[in-house]
Amino acid sequence: MTDTASNPTAPPRSAGDELAELDRRHLLHPWTPVGSGDQLVLVAGQGCEVTDSYGRTYLDGRSGQFNATLGYGHPKVLAALSEQAGKLMTYALLGSSNEPAVRLAARLAELLGEPLTHTLFCNSGSEASEAAIRIARMYHALQGRPERTTVISLADGYHGTTLATAGMSATPLAWAGCGPRPEGFVQIPGPSQGPEHGAQELEKAVLAAGPETVAAFFVEPVLGVGGIRPLPHGYLREVREICDRHGVLLVVDEVTTGLGRTGAWFAHQREGVSPDLVTTGKGLAAGYVPFAAVTTTGAVAGAFAGDPMLGGLRHGHTTSGHALGAAVALAVLRVIEEEGLVDHAAAMGERLIGQLTDRLKGVTGVKEVRGVGLLAGVEFDSFPRAGRVADECRELGVVVRSEGTVMSVAPPLVVTAEQVDRIVDAVCSGAEAAAGMPGE
Ligand code: PMP
Repeated sequence: MTDTASNPTAPPRSAGDELAELDRRHLLHPWTPVGSGDQLVLVAGQGCEVTDSYGRTYLDGRSGQFNATLGYGHPKVLAALSEQAGKLMTYALLGSSNEPAVRLAARLAELLGEPLTHTLFCNSGSEASEAAIRIARMYHALQGRPERTTVISLADGYHGTTLATAGMSATPLAWAGCGPRPEGFVQIPGPSQGPEHGAQELEKAVLAAGPETVAAFFVEPVLGVGGIRPLPHGYLREVREICDRHGVLLVVDEVTTGLGRTGAWFAHQREGVSPDLVTTGKGLAAGYVPFAAVTTTGAVAGAFAGDPMLGGLRHGHTTSGHALGAAVALAVLRVIEEEGLVDHAAAMGERLIGQLTDRLKGVTGVKEVRGVGLLAGVEFDSFPRAGRVADECRELGVVVRSEGTVMSVAPPLVVTAEQVDRIVDAVCSGAEAAAGMPGE
């Protein structure tokens, strides 16, 4: 390898090249093919824009990994972060408490509404799902039903990458090669044939497993990793009824959809359904720090007082309810409210999905545009075509990503109408450029 030290005539190596090489040599990327090469290395962000290590600026059409819902460098969030860092950066919730965690738990109870009153904090969406599994099982055991352990989820669902949460996934991508696969997880088809049919699938699975053995049913209001597929209206209501009939806890995973993303505080609220547990993550601290939560009812939380070993919930982590994360999340929720971002996301989402639907109609290789609020997906007829569109967008200065045949678009909730139009223009130009490629 030549560099300017050994060869004084060679051009100085740029910071971009250096970072790319160090990345290749030392970073193990999650869910990314090794050696896939020229991924963006970001070095800065402001508002809805991010800058890479070569100084190129992009409009972030993905909010990072759907999490940077307030964009980058929001002054009110930064102020809350630095104020809390100087005051008390952490104090564990094991046997003690800290002010921002207390206030955040109370705020989430207000936003979620009765009976969802008690929150356990976590560090990632996967941890929140894992905690929800353990809470559900332990709750049933404390109610004298220790045989209720089975967890049912949708085959196209995604709830995380820990051992148990990967066990909830039907795709071998999640668990092949790291078995044995944990027992006690069952997957069912989603409601692609309508809410009633989907709900019957749940009831069939509950009856097949034996209702007395089922702990919980997990569901995302919009299948995210499963291709940005909103569940049909009415499905959550139907599955709520089945869960009630068979004593099964309903867990709604709002890690991606929660906190304004779909143009509602929580997607399940639009369905008029009250889950037993709700998980949140990504948008909760808007990507400023890792933070997530699982909120449950007073009835479930109260049961832990009867635990014979501890008299409390035997679950949690050193940094559960980290004070910095909680202070940031409180600031994020305040900004969402003060800036009217839930309604703004609904309006910008209509603009985004409406324009994508109109302008991509009839374009070769485009199969479907779908989504809700600022969570949109464009399904193409092949992996290479979807990938090509994402590459073209990047060339045009807009970051979007394709996973399989679906390209997802989910800009920060603070996105402007002009920025939405720029994203739509880039996606449409990309789709036109990719239209000449061979199809399926
Ligand atoms: N649930 C859903 C619906 C998700 O989309 C994700 C992440 N994509 C998770 C859980 C897991 O969250 P994390 O990546 O923070 O562990």
